[in-house]
Amino acid sequence: AALREGYQHFDPRAYLQNNYLPPRADFSSEEFVVPWKLRCLAETFASGEIHGRTLIDVGSGPTIYQLLSACDHFEEIVATDYLAVNREELGRWVRGEPGTFDWSPFIQHVCKIEGRGEPWQEKERRLRDRLRRILPIDVHRPDPLGAPLRPPADALLSAFCLEAVSPDRAAFARALAHVGSLLRPGGHALLLGALGESFYLAGAARLPVVPLAEDDVRTALTGAGFALRDFRSYAMPPALRTGVDDVDGVFFAHAQK
Ligand code: SAH
Repeated sequence: AALREGYQHFDPRAYLQNNYLPPRADFSSEEFVVPWKLRCLAETFASGEIHGRTLIDVGSGPTIYQLLSACDHFEEIVATDYLAVNREELGRWVRGEPGTFDWSPFIQHVCKIEGRGEPWQEKERRLRDRLRRILPIDVHRPDPLGAPLRPPADALLSAFCLEAVSPDRAAFARALAHVGSLLRPGGHALLLGALGESFYLAGAARLPVVPLAEDDVRTALTGAGFALRDFRSYAMPPALRTGVDDVDGVFFAHAQK
């Protein structure tokens, strides 16, 4: 209940500013956190092994960076979020309405690291074209979308959501199992998230986060019926400890159901 109340004050603009502008979104060096996240995803999708009809992104928030490498490998991308303000922000970006967040530096960077010489506008167009559904979700329900996804997703992505909406590790593990039910057996799951974080700010909202250790993530994945394929972590450098949260690091996990 406290978490739900906290999210009523979540300010998408403030969240974007805190996490997706410099110093964290600085593309001049791969040492910064945003280029690290984009590289994890780009390298994982570069294998060509993860593809299919539908990819679902859980707790998309107001952001699309996490879909930039994914969108080349799926016919449809389904974005989801608990909050209408975030779903509306995403919808405005998909429709190309003026005044939305400028993701072009992210798109340009992903095109560069993917190294295919693709003009960034083409990737932008492809993602806008494939991002057809933006659905409400609550990961605390056994049926997070309110109805089963039919057919189930071929891949599942979730970035900085499950630990940011769970009061403790048990709730995190349950939420992971709930969202895992949206994925077909054999499907791939990609998780990005915060390590050792107890709160983050988004304007007037101060959201509690369950502080996770690397092993908590591995244990929850195994418990939810996933086989771990890759696990990476990033230590937040002092220059990026800006006070907008108390995150120690970031994990990336690739697992298969
Ligand atoms: N994926 C984005 C945003 C993460 S912020 C990124 O990588 O930056 C966490 C998100 O979880 C917010 O957008 C918030 O609205 C959403 N959220 C809050 N409660 C939720 C719930 N019960 N189920 C699913 N998502 C929830």
